[in-house]
Formats: sequence, C-alpha cells, structure tokens
Amino acid sequence: NLSLKLDRAFKTLKGTGKITEINVASTVKEIRRALIDADVNYKVAKEVTDTIRNEALGRDVLISVSPGQLLVKITQEELTKLMGGSKVDIKLSGDPAVILIAGLQGSGKTTFTGKLGSLLKRQGRQVLLVACDIYRPAAIDQLKVLGEQIGVEVYAEPENKNALQIANNAIAYAKKTGKKTVVVDTAGRLAVDDQMMKEIEELKKALNPSETLFVVDSMTGQDAVNTAKTFDERLNFDGVVLTKLDGDTRGGAAISIRHVVNKPIKFISTGEKMENLDVFHPDRMAQRILGMGDVISLVERAQQSFDEDEAKRINAKIRQNNFNFDDFLSQLEQVKKMGNIKDLMGMIPGMGKAMKGLDIDDDSFKPIEAIIRSMTPKERQQPDIIDGRRRKRIADGSGRTIVEVNNLMKQFDDMRKLMKQMNKMGGAKQAMSRMM
Ligand code: GDP
Ligand code: MG
Repeated sequence: NLSLKLDRAFKTLKGTGKITEINVASTVKEIRRALIDADVNYKVAKEVTDTIRNEALGRDVLISVSPGQLLVKITQEELTKLMGGSKVDIKLSGDPAVILIAGLQGSGKTTFTGKLGSLLKRQGRQVLLVACDIYRPAAIDQLKVLGEQIGVEVYAEPENKNALQIANNAIAYAKKTGKKTVVVDTAGRLAVDDQMMKEIEELKKALNPSETLFVVDSMTGQDAVNTAKTFDERLNFDGVVLTKLDGDTRGGAAISIRHVVNKPIKFISTGEKMENLDVFHPDRMAQRILGMGDVISLVERAQQSFDEDEAKRINAKIRQNNFNFDDFLSQLEQVKKMGNIKDLMGMIPGMGKAMKGLDIDDDSFKPIEAIIRSMTPKERQQPDIIDGRRRKRIADGSGRTIVEVNNLMKQFDDMRKLMKQMNKMGGAKQAMSRMM
C-alpha cells in the first residue's frame, strides 16, 4: 500500500524536526521506492524525487512548517505538476460534437460511455450514444441498458457490421433529431492488434471528433502505459480516462501515463455505477497518491495563518541576536491562531526544545504568557536585565513560582544561544534545522 509506505517515509523525518542532506536523502529514497511500487515508471519516479530533494533543501525551514510536513507538501506539488497542474475540460465543438471512445476490451469503454452520457445530460445537453462495437452483440444490449437507466437515447444497428457506416448514420440521425452531442462507443480487443487500430483510426479520420478519449484500466499497471503509448501513436488522442480507480487501486498509472504520452487525464472512473465518474483534478490525485490529506491541509492552514511580515521581522531579529520576550509572545500568538497547537509546535525555532516535557495544549501557554506579561516592557526587550530581584517580582505578579520563572528564563536563554550559534555559522538553513 503506497500511502502506508509514504507514511513510513515521512515518519523518518517527522520525529527529527530537521531537514538535512542525510535525512532528506533517505526519505527521498523511500518516496521513490513507494512511487515505483505504485507503478510509476522508474525514470519518472527518479525525476520527481530529485526535484523534491532540491526543493526541500532550498526552502527556508524557519518560517515554514516542520520538515516532514514540508516534504509532504513539496511532494504533493511535484506530483500535481507532473499530472498537468490543473484540470483540462473536454472540447465539444461541431454540430453535433462527436466524442470518440477508444481502448482495449474490458477497459471500461461502454461503462464510461454511459457515464459520460449521464454527465452531459445533467449539464443540459441533448446526447446520443452510439453502439459501434460490431463484434459483441452483448455490447449493444449493455449500452442500451445503460441508456435506459440514465434516460439517454442509444443508436444501434445490430445487423450492420460496418462501424463507420453505423457512426455516420448515427450522426445523420443526431442532426435530424437535434442531438448536439454524440458519444461513439467502439470495439476493443484484449490486446493491441493491427486490425483494431486500423478500425479506430479510420473512424477517427472519418468522423473528425472534437474529442477522442482513450480509456484505460488503471489496474493494469505498466501495461496501461504501453497501451496508452501505442494508441497515442496511432490515434493522437486528446485525453485519457482512467478506470477502476475504486477502492485500493494505485494512482501511479496517472503519473506514468501523463509523463509518457503527455496528454491530459480528463476523467477517472471509480466504480461500476453510473454516478462513479469524476473529472480529473491533478491536485486531488496527488493527494490521493500521497494518502495524507490531513497533513496537507494542516500545512496549508499553517501557511495561511502565519503572518508573513511578522515572520520576516522575527527572522531579522534572530539574525541580529535581538530576539526578545515580545517576539516570543508574538510567536506564541501566531501559533495559537492556528488552532491545533500540538501539531504546530514544531514551527517555532527552538520551541521544540523549550517546550520539552510539557504536555502541550492551549492551556500550556498560559503560565508562560502570564510570566511574560508580568515583565515590564523594558524587561521584555532586554531580557538580560532580569536579575533575581526582578524574577521574584515577576513570579509574584504572575502568580507563578520562582522555579517556573527560572525555567522559562533558562529555556529562553537556551533558545537565544542556539540562535546566536546559528548566526555565527552563517548558513541560516542548517542552523535553523539544528535548532528545531
Ligand atoms: P469495455 O469492454 O471497454 O466496453 O468495458 P466495459 O465497460 O464493458 O467494462 C468491463 C467491466 O469493467 C464491466 O464489468 C464493468 O462493470 C467494469 N467496470 C468499468 N468501469 C469500472 C470502474 O471504474 N470500476 C470497476 N470496479 N469496474 C468497472
Ligand atoms: Mg464495450
């Protein structure tokens, strides 16, 4: 199971809280293995993971989320890009607009023809489905049953053994009856063979469809890729329909096919029922392949609520060894805005260390806040002036113990030391990760 594998891959990072060459390398290797296991072509998987590695090492960990989450996010972005970025609609031009359905036998063409008919009907179009599978009489009945079910007319000539003739007659019939869209279901073979290719080629040339869709069973793995390539060489189709993506089916085929034929995937089919059809969205598929939707939305939430200017300001202060209690408080506020504190703790540099041993929830911040708020503005800005006498006053003022105040001062001091160390080292990136 791909998502489990990726989960494991990301886990190696999750605990550590730092992005370094070493742990990125091992995670990237895991991601690559997982993608290959999901039928993503080896070369493609290597390309993706190389990009992920470069992206991860180049990004500033300070203001972003924890490294593990960051890698998830980068991986999702890369997979989305690989699958074309955004959705691509089918073209419906001509009167009638003709959509030609091609693919191997059993790939799900007839089922998809019904689904597409239903979808177009719901969009308010007048649709005619055409049964051009001249080899299997049962295929005509199959389409007729589907047509009845969805309330869309089916054109068939059971005695006619010439697919092109049937299709031409169907188009004439569509014009006569005012049907604006014609979906032509065709015959497939169990494997690519020349006669089938010639037939479908001939149909395409003669009908000049505004959209030729190649239907492929996503469960056939690497074969799906090879079949797609062969069909594309002969047909130059406009888009791909991935079927049988229900349940546990791997989505890796989507990445490989897109990469190899460079044609958009337009629909995915997720079951035998007429309503099991979805427009293909690359980002959703990437999410599905990663199987980590919750993590991704968490990252997005974090990015939204983190005020960028504030983050920049804090960043600058850290660089000038100027980080004080006001900044600390402001970072606490930022984290609180984001909601689920436990998950988001990794976001503040040094915070992971400072908070060690605490069971963190909203209330965990209260003592710290209380202590900081009992400091005078001058004390917050120049923490070095806080001596024993001041600590006693702050403890009394905040209702906390001296020990608690001392602990916070010590933790804050540790944070600042780490920040200083990092500034000395120059490379902010490595240093930041060291702090986390
Ligand atoms: P065709 O030979 O290409 O026309 O394929 P069919 O449309 O007849 O489908 C072959 C088989 O796959 C049928 O039993 C369909 O019910 C089934 N099928 C088609 N699409 C899907 C799908 O998305 N999920 C599942 N589980 N079965 C499907
Ligand atoms: Mg069929």
